[in-house]
Amino acid sequence: MSATPTRRIPAVVPLLALLALTGCTVGPAHPAHARRITVPQPTAPAPTPTPSASPSATAKPPLKSLAWYVAQVPTFPEAPIPQPVPLPTTGTAAFWHRLPTDHKVAFITIDDGGLARPPGAIDFIWQARIPVTMFLNSPAAAEHTDYFRQIQVAGGMVENHTINHTSLAGRSYDHQKQEICGAADRLEALFGTRATLFRPPFGEYDSTTLQAAHDCGTKAVLHWTETVHEGKVRYQTPEKVVHPGDILLMHFRPALMDDLLAALKAIHRAGLTPALLTDYIR
Ligand SMILES: [Zn+2]
Repeated sequence: MSATPTRRIPAVVPLLALLALTGCTVGPAHPAHARRITVPQPTAPAPTPTPSASPSATAKPPLKSLAWYVAQVPTFPEAPIPQPVPLPTTGTAAFWHRLPTDHKVAFITIDDGGLARPPGAIDFIWQARIPVTMFLNSPAAAEHTDYFRQIQVAGGMVENHTINHTSLAGRSYDHQKQEICGAADRLEALFGTRATLFRPPFGEYDSTTLQAAHDCGTKAVLHWTETVHEGKVRYQTPEKVVHPGDILLMHFRPALMDDLLAALKAIHRAGLTPALLTDYIR
């Protein structure tokens, strides 16, 4: 069990800030899957009352319980019945910043996995029924399988973010294929399903990436339209609103619960409902 402290470690802050800007991500994706696992086991819920990280670097972190987080979650309009988006038929993976759908939905994605794994996030995702897609680096997934598996049981999907989290752009086909297929193979062995989504580290990719990803079983390579860090949503577009099909990027970091809550509130403000990527990319 991971027991990652939720307090921030000052020495890591500059790196975190950098990652927030670059949108570092990792991870293989899963195959088409119904939106939510309907039989989460009764054994999973509840272990951790969760004091969580403060979103502010200077403020004293208030103790916020799991119940507090769950109570803050807005009530969303009912999610539409998903309609899968068309995929390329040209032997390459799709690439999107935002899913080409006019459904009033947006997608929450969580990247990496090696840095921090707040225990309370598992129950938060479970109790608030938050549909999340995890883009994991396979070594982190292997080291902390139990943590990610619990989120999987709570309805989360495991997808591909490479093995080593290095930039793929400009690298050879063989190198890129090794990073993508290697992670996909490992994640499949760990979690029982083959990733069908891929997020390139730092969002950096080229046409070889789309080819290699396709050849590893990837249907879509995904960027993002918003990032969320320490409870704040940063928009990549001037309107500062979540649009239908938008993909919100956050990371497994100490403030994950604040980030999840901030994403949910932003999606709600836009009149949208959170949905699962693999319900739309099949
Ligand atoms: Zn990353």
